[in-house]
Amino acid sequence: MSASLSLACIADDFTGATDLANNLVRAGWRTLQLLGLPEEGKSFVNAAGEPLDEKQLFAQTDAVVVALKSRTIDPLQAQAMSLQAWQWLQAQGAKRCYFKVCSTFDSTDKGNIGPVADALMDALKADFAIVCPAFPAGGRTVFRGHLFVGDQLLSDSGMKDHPLTPMTDSNLVRVLQRQSKHRIGLIDYQTIAQGPKAIAQRIEQLKADGVRMAIADATSDQDLHVLGKLVMEQSLVVAGSGIAIGFEAPGARGQNPRGQNPHESVAFLPRQTGPGLILSGSCSLASQAQVKHFLQQSKTSNDVSLAIDPLKLARDERAKATWMQDYVACLARLFEQTSNVQAVHAKPRPPRLLVYATAQAESVKQVQDALGIDIASAWIEALMADLAKEAKRFGVRRFVVAGGETSGAVVQALDVKLLKIGAQIDPGVPWTESLQGFALALKSGNFGAEDFFTKALDLLDA
Ligand code: ADP
Repeated sequence: MSASLSLACIADDFTGATDLANNLVRAGWRTLQLLGLPEEGKSFVNAAGEPLDEKQLFAQTDAVVVALKSRTIDPLQAQAMSLQAWQWLQAQGAKRCYFKVCSTFDSTDKGNIGPVADALMDALKADFAIVCPAFPAGGRTVFRGHLFVGDQLLSDSGMKDHPLTPMTDSNLVRVLQRQSKHRIGLIDYQTIAQGPKAIAQRIEQLKADGVRMAIADATSDQDLHVLGKLVMEQSLVVAGSGIAIGFEAPGARGQNPRGQNPHESVAFLPRQTGPGLILSGSCSLASQAQVKHFLQQSKTSNDVSLAIDPLKLARDERAKATWMQDYVACLARLFEQTSNVQAVHAKPRPPRLLVYATAQAESVKQVQDALGIDIASAWIEALMADLAKEAKRFGVRRFVVAGGETSGAVVQALDVKLLKIGAQIDPGVPWTESLQGFALALKSGNFGAEDFFTKALDLLDA
C-alpha cells in the first residue's frame, strides 16, 4: 500500500488523460499516466526488463491517471472497466477519484458519463458529486448549466455533427439526467461567486432534495480555483481537465506532507540524450504547419526528413523495401552525426529526423480513395509502429509523435505501459518519460505551436 498516492484519476480516452496529467503536474502533483491497467499478475518493468517495486513507485507519486478507451463503448462495459480501474487504484492507496470526461461532455443518452459516474458513486459510497467539464482557457465555459464552446452554445458548435457523440443539447443538467439513475441538480454561477460556504450550503440543500450529482457553473479560472479546492475534500469528482488547475499542491495543507516546499515544481525534463525521431502521422492543420516549419529550418541545420508516400509504397513491396533502407540509412547517419557533433562542439545539439505522412486534405483524399479510408490509416499506423521499433533497436531514446491514433500505435510498438508526466512543451502537451527509458512527446493533432517539433527537442538539449 502506498504511503502517498492520494488521487486516482480515470480518463475515458488517451489524450484526455494526458491533458489532465499535464494540469496536475502544473498544479504541483507528481503524476503517472497508465495506458490501461496492468495485466493480471504482471508488474511494470524498467529499461532492463526488471520488475519495478510498485510500492516504492506509488509512494513517490501523488496522482495516477489511468487512460481508458471507454468514451463510446457499451455502457456496461465502460462501467466494468472503470470499476476495475478504481479497485486497482484503491489497492495502491488512492482515497479519492477524479473521473475525467471530455470538456465538450462527449456522450450520448446511453452514456457513458452517467453510467460510469453512477457506478463510481456506488463503489466509493459517495453521497454527492460535482460535475464540471469547464475549461475557460480552452473556451469551454458553463453558465446556468449550459455548456459553451467559445461564443457558441455546445449544440450550435461543431460538436453537433460529431460522428459518435453528437451534442445537440447544451443543458448539461438535462443531458446528464438522461444518463444517470440519480437526480441531477445545478450549482449556478451566483452561488459559485459567493464562495465555498455558499456552495457547501447549496450542496446540503440539493442533498436534502434528493439530488446526488450537480452540474457546477464555471466561467473563469477563478471559478475553477474555488471549485478545485472544494472537490479536493470530496471522494468523487466528474470533470474535464480544467478543475485540476484549482488543486493545491499536495502538502500545501498537510494532506500529503513530503518535507518539501509544497509549491516546488514537480515538472521535469527527461534526461535521455542522443538524436530525436519525430513521427508525424497527423494531417491536422497544426501538424501541417509544424512539418512545414521543420522542413524550413532543416535547410540550415543538420536535421533530416523523410516523407511517406502511401500511394507509392502501400502497394509496392519493393518500393517499400527500398524506402525502409533509406530510413535505416538515415538512422545510421543520425548516430554518426551525433558522435561527430559531440567531438567538435562543446555544447552538442544532436540532429533530428522527421518522418511524416502528414499531407493536405486533397492528397489525403486521393490516398483514401485509392486505398480505402480504414486501410490507408491502418497501413500508415502500422508503418509508424515499425519505424518506432527500428529506431528503438538503433538506440533512439527521444520520440516526438504527432497524432492521437499515431501516438497510440507508437506507444504500443514501444510497449509503453506507464508514463511519468514532465514539463509542458505547449499547452496540453507535456514531455513524458516511460519506465523503459524513452522520452516521449505525444501530441494530439491540433495541439502545439508551429515550432513544436524543434521546441520540444530543444528543451532537452538546452
Ligand atoms: P490527429 O490527432 O490529427 O487526428 P491521428 O494520428 O489521430 O491524427 O489520425 C490521423 C490518421 O490519418 C491516422 O490514422 C494516419 O495513419 C492517417 N494518415 C496520415 N497521413 C495520411 C495520408 N497522407 N493519407 C491518408 N491518411 C493519412
